Amino acid sequence: MDEAAIKKLSAAPIELIGRVSTPGGQSSITLKASELEVFCDDPEAFFAMRHGVAKEVYQQWVETEGTPRCGAKTTQGVRCRNVVSGGIQMNLERWLQEDGGFCTVHGGATSAEARNGR
Ligand SMILES: [Zn+2]
Repeated sequence: MDEAAIKKLSAAPIELIGRVSTPGGQSSITLKASELEVFCDDPEAFFAMRHGVAKEVYQQWVETEGTPRCGAKTTQGVRCRNVVSGGIQMNLERWLQEDGGFCTVHGGATSAEARNGR
């Protein structure tokens, strides 16, 4: 898209809305005319960039339906990935905070009693 077209779109009384997959459905994202090309090239990467995360992080968020996974290492040395209690379909900001927390097996919030009993 050339500069004249971008200028014309920017001045026009229209709203440019992109759609990207999110846990549980889709999200709308408001675009500037100057962002259209980048968005069209890779909507997922654009959404991730807008939220300050890598595209892979965005994809994990969608694949897990916004469910945070346990970040503890198992005895085999791999990441546990059990569900961390507290909900599903979290928004990206919340999911980023909760992902990598601990499941009940590894000392998550709901196992406080078990911890105290040790
Ligand atoms: Zn775990």
